[in-house]
Amino acid sequence: MKRTFTFAMLLILSAGLFAQNPYPLVTDHYHLEISFDYRNETLQGNCRMTILNQSDSAITQIPLILYRLMKVNTLKTDDGIELDFHQSVVQYEDFTKLQVNHILVDYEIPPHGSRVIHIDYGGHLLGYTETGMRYITDRVSPEFTLIRMDAYAYPIISKPASAFLINNIRTHLFDYDIVVRVPDTLMVASGGRLQSKIPEADNTITYRYASKKPAWRIDIAIAPYNQLNSEVLDIFYLNDEESASRIAESGTDAMQQYTQWWGKLQSPEAVTIIETERNSGGQADELVILLPEESFSNISNFHNLYHELAHLWHVAIRESEGSSPRWEEGLADFSAYLLNETLFEDKAGLLKRAANHNLRRLKRDFDRNPALQSIPLMDYGNRRITNLSYVQPMVLFSVLYYWLGEEVFHQTLAGFYQQHINTGASTLDFVNYWKQMSPSIPLDTFFEDWMYTTRFTEFVMEGKELDEIVSHYSQN
Ligand SMILES: [Zn+2]
Repeated sequence: MKRTFTFAMLLILSAGLFAQNPYPLVTDHYHLEISFDYRNETLQGNCRMTILNQSDSAITQIPLILYRLMKVNTLKTDDGIELDFHQSVVQYEDFTKLQVNHILVDYEIPPHGSRVIHIDYGGHLLGYTETGMRYITDRVSPEFTLIRMDAYAYPIISKPASAFLINNIRTHLFDYDIVVRVPDTLMVASGGRLQSKIPEADNTITYRYASKKPAWRIDIAIAPYNQLNSEVLDIFYLNDEESASRIAESGTDAMQQYTQWWGKLQSPEAVTIIETERNSGGQADELVILLPEESFSNISNFHNLYHELAHLWHVAIRESEGSSPRWEEGLADFSAYLLNETLFEDKAGLLKRAANHNLRRLKRDFDRNPALQSIPLMDYGNRRITNLSYVQPMVLFSVLYYWLGEEVFHQTLAGFYQQHINTGASTLDFVNYWKQMSPSIPLDTFFEDWMYTTRFTEFVMEGKELDEIVSHYSQN
């Protein structure tokens, strides 16, 4: 799960090389109605988007992207007036294996004003595995249907460039409501709050969901699901009831422990876990976790689940320039190991073993590709090596944990969450927060070594163990 996700991020994170100011047009609300023709494997969608212009000047054209095999049929204003638009399937400028339907809508949005557009669209959905993003297996089928942002299965404001998309996708959160009609043998799973579930005369059911809180993505999965709800988790599972109960139990334990460490989540809503088709990648939004079958079933340890749940406490990191280095991945991995050894006695020492393993893994990577030794963590996003964002920062956080001690460590993460969860923050805000919380400790040098320069590579290349690195800092 992690690997496929990393690979996708790797491709998407070309962004920082072309850093720019956020694009002024953002979606403030989606109303999305979807139905399917399973025989022809097509989706029919009706999407009402409320679009804001956040700039001081009028904007006369709205750029949208949609899955490559989907077409816009009509595009109208809120008053039902047809809008002029142009659509064409194009390659991404910076990722030529990827094609999208690029739509340009002629509609003026006044400065700081908003407009509503109604888009009637539809077509096939066959994923994007051919681009190398193997986890985007999204498709329309009675066995399993997945509708995600990743495959642009609904219209998204963007130009056909991954740099553009990644720079703008999370700059403004939106509310959504979705209406999905399916045969009554199927169930619609979503991270939103179920509003209604109405059986129709033709053996179909119409599900209505509304976002629990503003989001940056809509995820809808449709299958013959079963449901299991605990106090903190809503689980949609395919067949494996035993795994679902085990996940409910360990997920609940995990949430309790994380809450004890980092405080209550600001949205006290249940977290939704949706089992998805094998190899479809794992993902966590603030309240929704997609777990592909291989992570969901036969779980021998709950690392991936713990990793995704830890992300629920992560502030959205946006840099003023360039791409995020994605150190949250290392933090989530660190948290999963720590939680594992906290909850299970037989896992004692796991965190240190994992950190030492990661140090050796880094050394192997650096030996094989010495150029990596000249890249500081801060540039992992810009240089598209976010596969290392699971590894290097995991060591960074392990050092901090053993150096500062459990209490200060968790208090700092808890405080940062409370302070920034609603606004987002930059890596610099994060580093400054650590320094502010432990003013008497030379964290300046530490973050210089591990975040902003490549001094950490000396520890790696000298084959130092975690304990030796911790004592290096605690004795200096
Ligand atoms: Zn992650």
